[in-house]
Amino acid sequence: MNLVDFIGQFLYPNRCIFCGVKCSDKSYKCENCSTPETPVVRMINIRPGVRGVHHHILKVISPAVYTGYYRKTLHYFKFGRKSYFAKKYAMLIDEMNLFNKGSDFITYVPMTKEKIRERGYNQAEVLARRISEISGVPVRDVIIKEKDNRIQHTLNMKERKENVKGMFAVNERLKGCHIILVDDIITTGATMAECARLLYRKGAASVLGICAADAQTREINKRKLKYIKIGEKK
Ligand SMILES: [Zn+2]
Repeated sequence: MNLVDFIGQFLYPNRCIFCGVKCSDKSYKCENCSTPETPVVRMINIRPGVRGVHHHILKVISPAVYTGYYRKTLHYFKFGRKSYFAKKYAMLIDEMNLFNKGSDFITYVPMTKEKIRERGYNQAEVLARRISEISGVPVRDVIIKEKDNRIQHTLNMKERKENVKGMFAVNERLKGCHIILVDDIITTGATMAECARLLYRKGAASVLGICAADAQTREINKRKLKYIKIGEKK
């Protein structure tokens, strides 16, 4: 280890993405935390819009829910320019074997240039590239962002669906392609559904969504945690 790495590790030690405890720089988790046994799976109806294709349901898989310290890391990743978290999520996704490595390519939810300038990078793209490095499945940027939208998280599902219409475009034929669609966090799924719809329209054979976290099941999870306290007798 050189001096720069040593100082870097001293100032910014590698931390477990589940609890924040310092851990080995080759891992994404500490000795006390375990990789989730089952991922969070979401089924989203992407109709209407795909004519003549039987794919109406988009499956989106996330390794964990958007809660606790894991949620905090995603916040750093999204708004704090801490792009190194992408590699950890990619390692987690790889260990959980969330998608078929025989897929044709990985693509991601795009961002406008202005937004990239503001945030420093498109976190969905960074995540897609890290997943690609580990899995060996190539990345292709086939989805284009046509216009900027109002901020999605203040809208409800119906408004979000309306809001994402015409926002993206796919300009190439993707006949028979098996595609992995990546985004950082899934909330209502309206953005993922719209991107998947466009990919299917261009002839994709299958689209599977992969996100670092699922935010909509967070509340349910919180409620559960409230009633099940560790070590507490019923
Ligand atoms: Zn931990």
